Amino acid sequence: MYFKGESLFLRSSCQKEYKIPTPKRITSRIKLNKMYRSHTCGELRMQHVGQEITISGWVQASRDFGGMTFIDLRDRYGITQLVFDMEDDDALCTQARKLGREFVVRVKGLVRERTNKNPNRATGDIEIEVKEMDVLNASKVPPFTIEEDTDGGDDLRMKYRYLDLRRGPVQANIIFRSKLALATRSYLGGQGFIEVETPFLIKSTPEGARDFVVPSRMNGGQFYALPQSPQTFKQLLMVSGFDKYFQIVKCFRDEDLRADRQPEFTQIDCEMSFVTQEQILQTFEGLTKNLFKETIGVELPDFPRMNYDEAMRRFGSDKPDMRFGMEFVELNDVAQGKNFVVFDKAELVVGICAEGQAGMTRKQVDGLTDWVKRPQIGAKGLVYIKFNEDGSLKSSIGKFFSEDELRAWGERFGAKPGDMVFILAGETDKTRKQLNELRLELGRRLGLMKEGDFKPLWVVDFPLLEWDEDSNRFHAMHHPFTSPKKEDVERMLTGDHETMKSLRADAYDLVINGSEIGGGSIRIHDRALQARNFKLLGFTPEEAEEQFGFLMGAFEYGAPPHGGIAFGFDRLCAVMNGQASIRDFIAFPKNNQGRDMMIDAPAAVDGAQLEELQIKLDLKES
Ligand code: ASP
Repeated sequence: MYFKGESLFLRSSCQKEYKIPTPKRITSRIKLNKMYRSHTCGELRMQHVGQEITISGWVQASRDFGGMTFIDLRDRYGITQLVFDMEDDDALCTQARKLGREFVVRVKGLVRERTNKNPNRATGDIEIEVKEMDVLNASKVPPFTIEEDTDGGDDLRMKYRYLDLRRGPVQANIIFRSKLALATRSYLGGQGFIEVETPFLIKSTPEGARDFVVPSRMNGGQFYALPQSPQTFKQLLMVSGFDKYFQIVKCFRDEDLRADRQPEFTQIDCEMSFVTQEQILQTFEGLTKNLFKETIGVELPDFPRMNYDEAMRRFGSDKPDMRFGMEFVELNDVAQGKNFVVFDKAELVVGICAEGQAGMTRKQVDGLTDWVKRPQIGAKGLVYIKFNEDGSLKSSIGKFFSEDELRAWGERFGAKPGDMVFILAGETDKTRKQLNELRLELGRRLGLMKEGDFKPLWVVDFPLLEWDEDSNRFHAMHHPFTSPKKEDVERMLTGDHETMKSLRADAYDLVINGSEIGGGSIRIHDRALQARNFKLLGFTPEEAEEQFGFLMGAFEYGAPPHGGIAFGFDRLCAVMNGQASIRDFIAFPKNNQGRDMMIDAPAAVDGAQLEELQIKLDLKES
């Protein structure tokens, strides 16, 4: 039931009440068309032996043993073995021998017990003695094998995505996604949230990425932008009085595609009015726990919380993977002033302890040193202290520090005999980032990120602003509609760099196993404060009015206090299934160049279409 009899109000001058009817339950039984199927390829068991059935599906494999031909018939529910016996029906058996992989057939036959049972298959106890067969469609030989593990490379799988989607693991992911979406709707619906669709053809919303733009034929020379998120619309819905909104919605961001990003992706987008940050965290912790329980049967404990500064200090990341420890230990006070120039000139000296790794060979340590020195990580070097099993100690900085000193450092890490400490030094932010990478790499190499282990964490109290070296100005760390903490409002316009950096926001992220699953904030709902924030971000009043006049205008008509969050739906699917890539949770994804290999998009459009859009192309040779 979606609304549990709760009545919802639309805002109107007479405050008339509109009752929303409760939808009827839809039964989930699969009704099969008897002509093609009395059963699916996944459901026949011993109890069906002796029954005459009809099934349809794709030829997965065929085995020809002279007098007998066996065919594995597949649909999305499973695989059933068909038997054709030459002695029973010569013509039918000959026809079966000619079937190629992925032919589509319908068969009528008798369910019988198998002599040679297959315990690895749900239908492995039975087989179908085929009496009649229709070839519903032939198939070319597929370009890759349609099996659990395929021999198809990425590009080929993308080009023939409709075939890749026939493979069990990909199909399971897409089915999981559907289940998760339904569970989300059911839970949020049950909590009184209403799903509202917001437009795709909008004006740009700055969320840190480039917009995809769409030319308008009817308004020559003007462009819509595709939403990076429905942020401003959901805030306007709060002004309208829909105090609990959600939407499972596509968002579009024209970013350089770093690994595993998609230019279009899906969010569970949510907003609430008259709530504190605490209520928002509780509500969406509730959603997350419910989704884990309903879809994968995992009961999550209450989510711990950590503020941003602490996360950076202890893990060098605002999305720490809490499945393992290896926390940072800062060493400035003991490592500096001892004439080791690398440490002396560093802003931060910081290390981690890898349990049981003292046995690493020289070569392995050199390998790890090269790994942190790669340009992607950018460390200058890697210092180690080995606390050997036999009680001895070996370190790359043994010349500069006495054994007693290094043992005292070891105590800070809680290092035991057999452990290895790694230390990096340099500028604070960079060094933390590098050590975070090293921590994660060691976590991976040492198998500390265990499958099926889920460690959620709320990271709270994010900075309001972030300094951007390239553009030499501050950007909103979350987005420009995020509210500063009450106690920081007064300090917002002091203008001094360090103060700006120290401003904190009511902004939070949900992190699971080191992935950012959701992020949100309490919003500004006051025109003057919003204008002040735009000023901080370098907008002139005219620019702010031009781009966001509609929102600031709405704030003047009784905007309620509000806040919300958005979950990355594709990423949530992947994390819940312990998979690194979101791509196979999207039915038709783009490749790393943002291309759809199957339909070959993007593509040029013809001249007449451009003319109609009043667009002249002047493409530079590349
Ligand atoms: N619109 C934000 C985003 O896409 C989420 C939010 O603040 O609710 O990250």
